Amino acid sequence: MIPPIANNFVAGETAEEAVDHVASLNRRDVSGILNLLGEHYTERAPADADADAYVSLIEDIAARDVDAAVSVKPSQIGLDVSEAVFAENLSRIVEAGSAADVFVWIDMEDHETTDVTLDAFETHARETDGTVGVCVQANLERTRTDLERLAPLPGKVRLVKGAYDEPPAIAHTEKSAVDAAYRDCLEYMFASFEDGVGVGSHDPAMVSHAKSLHEEHGTPYEVQMLTGVRESAQFELAAEGIPVYQYAPYGTKWLSYFYRRIRERKENALFALRAVVGS
Ligand code: FAD
Repeated sequence: MIPPIANNFVAGETAEEAVDHVASLNRRDVSGILNLLGEHYTERAPADADADAYVSLIEDIAARDVDAAVSVKPSQIGLDVSEAVFAENLSRIVEAGSAADVFVWIDMEDHETTDVTLDAFETHARETDGTVGVCVQANLERTRTDLERLAPLPGKVRLVKGAYDEPPAIAHTEKSAVDAAYRDCLEYMFASFEDGVGVGSHDPAMVSHAKSLHEEHGTPYEVQMLTGVRESAQFELAAEGIPVYQYAPYGTKWLSYFYRRIRERKENALFALRAVVGS
């Protein structure tokens, strides 16, 4: 069982709990993006098993009729085994998503995987005419150019600041430079993306910039935030009529994910401490 402090950041251990979590979000006008925790499998069996789990999750989402997408990590479905295994598993998941009308996001991992991830997205975006999305990272210098390639494609693109420590030769490493790059990429996306912009950030400054850009260009957009992070803001934005998606990880591998969230921000550590002291 997940202890209450970690429970704030994940949507349960099982697919059933995760879909229940989305159902409760939907009641407050927030949509879900479900991510089964797992990454960097170097053997085929766990990569295939997680791809199977996504196919089954997609069927559950459709059967329960909840408003949820899924989001998969390339290394979770075989990229560290081979590009062929990744391609095969991603195709199975995208096919299941298209058949059940469940949107499939592809998360972005470190810079060595950017090309293969964008290529896979492009293939599926064209084949499905837009039932897939991909994440891009503002901290990578290449991203502004990648956006020009992505702009005419069907499907959605989520812009995040980037969660990986990348080499300074190819990435902005100062927070102020990452923030400036994020703004620059957002401005390009709102001016050039017809299918909408995914704003994957908890940063009030970026969310407010996106709102102004939407007012200026009319481009549709959605705000995406993580489970347990600025949840009151998520519900407030949804109440204003802005499409909000909560990215909700679930599964048995919650412990390392929970530590990552805690390490990331001391507010989360204080929050966790309060939960311990208060329980
Ligand atoms: P930060 O720059 O970390 O913080 C800016 C401001 O936001 C803070 O000053 C504060 O006001 C507010 N804030 C941020 N965190 C908190 C908090 N915990 N509590 C309260 N306020 C807070 N990264 C990838 O590399 N690949 C992915 O595929 C990917 N997918 C993502 C999907 C989603 C939906 C989200 C939200 C993030 C994803 N990320 C991904 C992570 C992302 O790259 C960033 O590392 C992460 O979102 C932190 O950046 P930020 O823009 O949220 O805010």
